[in-house]
Amino acid sequence: MRGIAAVPTYVVMQPTTLCNLDCSYCYLPFRAADKRMPVEVAAAVASSVGAFARAGRFSVVWHGGEPLAAGREHLGALLAPFGGSVEHHVQTNATLIDDAWCEFFAEHDVRVSVSVDGPEARNGERVTRGGKPAYDRIARGIEALRRHGIPFSALCVVGDPRPGVAAELYSYFLELGCEVLGINVEEREGVNTRDNRHAAADVTAFWAELVGAWRRDPRIHLREVEWSLRYAGAVLDGTADDLLPRRLDPIPTVAHDGSVVLLSPELAGFHDPRYGDFTSGNVLTTPLGEILATAADTPWIAEFLRGVQACREACPYFGFCGGAHAANRYFEHGRFDMTETDHCRNSKIRLLEGVLDHARDHQPTAV
Ligand code: SF4
Repeated sequence: MRGIAAVPTYVVMQPTTLCNLDCSYCYLPFRAADKRMPVEVAAAVASSVGAFARAGRFSVVWHGGEPLAAGREHLGALLAPFGGSVEHHVQTNATLIDDAWCEFFAEHDVRVSVSVDGPEARNGERVTRGGKPAYDRIARGIEALRRHGIPFSALCVVGDPRPGVAAELYSYFLELGCEVLGINVEEREGVNTRDNRHAAADVTAFWAELVGAWRRDPRIHLREVEWSLRYAGAVLDGTADDLLPRRLDPIPTVAHDGSVVLLSPELAGFHDPRYGDFTSGNVLTTPLGEILATAADTPWIAEFLRGVQACREACPYFGFCGGAHAANRYFEHGRFDMTETDHCRNSKIRLLEGVLDHARDHQPTAV
């Protein structure tokens, strides 16, 4: 895997900066302000993605702020320029989902992913702008999806990865009925400056326990575990070198004003004396394809690619991880050419070690 691909597999779009919640671990800098994406920005992106969609499956991920806070009418107007050429996804806190939103999702064939951190007691960080618990509203929104038979994925943030937590979470999400589950160990990034260092043994045991819970009832596609098992299988087959993409997916994030940040959506809206505002262009003045073609000229991206090369040379986990995310390097180290971060320790190294620990502890006994 070297350099950045000219064709992405998805684009992240910010229909509004606003979020109606105020979760304490949130990384977004402008979530109290309602800066909405004009339809011209969506139209400019739509005019570029036809070529990407022809190259393979292509998705538009509506992410916020809280994308439903843009309102149905405005979100519908932003979707319209894309026609039927792409898959639409929305990442939502679920609190605004009602019957009308479910009808909107069905009508526009939008795939839904909800953010919920497990049972009610584990959602203490998820609060309204007035500081009140948001769980009831989240649960009501998910219930509306279930009532309408709309399949959904779930994204769960874990602030305390340790034994005991994983089994509880997995049974909650089995009961919830999600099809796909992603587990994000909380990260220090954006305006969330909280420490994310945990005892190595706890994090490894958390992942090992999650694999065990999943293996007992694997009805959910468990994102991190499936990645790890695919990697372990490829190592055993001798095909691990083919697993990472040949080039990094550029993951363009288009902010409300049309500016484009590549590789890490979490960098959007930040400014640094050395790196400027991290943007690589604006779709209102430059076609997205052109922005991607010159991505490696953006100074911080050149530095990040050097960091990925340093990982390739130094880290035994590189074949699984691929160098992880730019934003974690920046928000933990203040630059991009470092290697290890607490994020990669928690979510790459210890994940793989947890899966291997589980495999070691459950080897069939010889007869
Ligand atoms: S695990 Fe960390 S050090 Fe290793 S390749 Fe990934 S980001 Fe780099």
